[in-house]
Amino acid sequence: MGNKTLAIIKPDAVKNGYTGKIYHRIIQSDYKILSAKLLKMTKAQAEGFYSVHQKRPFYNELTVFMSSGPCMVLALEKENAVNSWRETIGATNPAEAADGTIRNDFATNIQENAVHGSDSDENAQKEIAFFFSESELISTQ
Ligand code: ADP
Ligand code: MG
Repeated sequence: MGNKTLAIIKPDAVKNGYTGKIYHRIIQSDYKILSAKLLKMTKAQAEGFYSVHQKRPFYNELTVFMSSGPCMVLALEKENAVNSWRETIGATNPAEAADGTIRNDFATNIQENAVHGSDSDENAQKEIAFFFSESELISTQ
């Protein structure tokens, strides 16, 4: 059993029709999908999810964007899941994201950057619990 991380296919990527492609990459990169669901966050939910960024100048814009349309949230498991998933997605700014990363291939700009990834095991646990109950973390494999 590996570590867990939370991934989100953000509203821009869903709207642009990349959900299937990104889901396929997740499977191809050997993550176990413990759970996945499509949801549309309220502004308040997005504010809660990104509360660590509340002092940042982009906080309001970011939470408007994250509540602007459906997204897919996924609980992933793999050895070293947090760092591994951050490598798979690439840098926050797609202009700086390495070739072959999800953000390089599918992001629009630094805000609408296609996907989310947790930044530590501790935050991964909190973020997974934000969207999923224990009984939903089941895995198909
Ligand atoms: P990451 O998602 O790579 O962990 P951060 O935690 O720093 O990046 O930021 C959270 C999210 O806020 C980013 O994914 C992006 O959507 C948005 N964001 C970050 N920096 C900026 C910025 N300078 N301008 C607008 N939006 C930003
Ligand atoms: Mg972050």
